[in-house]
Amino acid sequence: MRVAVSHHAPEPLLDPGLYIVATPIGNLGDITFRAVETLRGCDAIACEDTRVTGKLLKHLGISKPLWRYDDHTSERDRERILAAARTQAIALVSDAGTPLVSDPGYRLVHEARDAGIPATSLPGPCAAIVGLTLSGLPNDSFLFAGFLPVKDKARADRLAQLAQIDATLIFYETGPRLAKSLAAIAKVLPGRTVSVARELTKLHEECRTASAADLRAHYEQHPPKGEIVLLIAPPERAETSVEDVEAMLLEALATMKASQAAAHVAKATGQDRKALYARALEMKSR
Ligand code: SAM
Repeated sequence: MRVAVSHHAPEPLLDPGLYIVATPIGNLGDITFRAVETLRGCDAIACEDTRVTGKLLKHLGISKPLWRYDDHTSERDRERILAAARTQAIALVSDAGTPLVSDPGYRLVHEARDAGIPATSLPGPCAAIVGLTLSGLPNDSFLFAGFLPVKDKARADRLAQLAQIDATLIFYETGPRLAKSLAAIAKVLPGRTVSVARELTKLHEECRTASAADLRAHYEQHPPKGEIVLLIAPPERAETSVEDVEAMLLEALATMKASQAAAHVAKATGQDRKALYARALEMKSR
């Protein structure tokens, strides 16, 4: 028989396996019911920093064995965690947000899956997604690219490598490096709209959207404190000429129905699908 450790509620029984549990990125109210149930019901918690997770557990009135797990954990310790997850419910948390997203856990989950150990992921806060939703930048397509390199040349090269991607770019950033990153963006990706989302879910939450040069000027005057997500809007689509649109439509009609050809060209050019469909029908009836 299991003994309940929490005085708030009986401990739910969890099947053995690895439970990836997202935790708040600043506002403790953002923990999910399922995260609390899982932390309360698991047998042990693998965590990045036992002091940080210890504070969260104290706040939740939960007491569990905490096993330190991060990118430097030895293979032997990782194997111990995996062996435990075969017979017990083991939760994986990071200091804040979603484990594995610029946080430890990739090898543990990869090896758990390879070994056929059941694994499940409990969704919750992730700074990249909170920043994206708050920024007002296009969100139909986005690319999360972790932290930019620290060295100037490597940072500029990375930005150049991502320049043509037709998606909002999302980076994690730190206060001391923000001005340098904004300067590099102004140089390598001129004309792009940029957002700085800071202290998300916390008391001093702030999101500023402007050109990289303007944001740099602002943050040089007001050195940013706290945690930052940096976002860059996709490149502006070049306007396609009428002749090019006609040619694309004609080419598409060779292999597609009018409706499909219109949808295809609308996606590629950003032009109105209905107008393209009408034009495609005209072309077909000639
Ligand atoms: N796994 C976490 C997640 O899901 O968001 C991210 C961990 S990563 C080591 C930490 C970085 O995430 C910070 O340097 C910052 O760029 C970003 N971050 C975390 N919390 C944030 C917050 N409240 N506001 C803005 N950015 C945050």
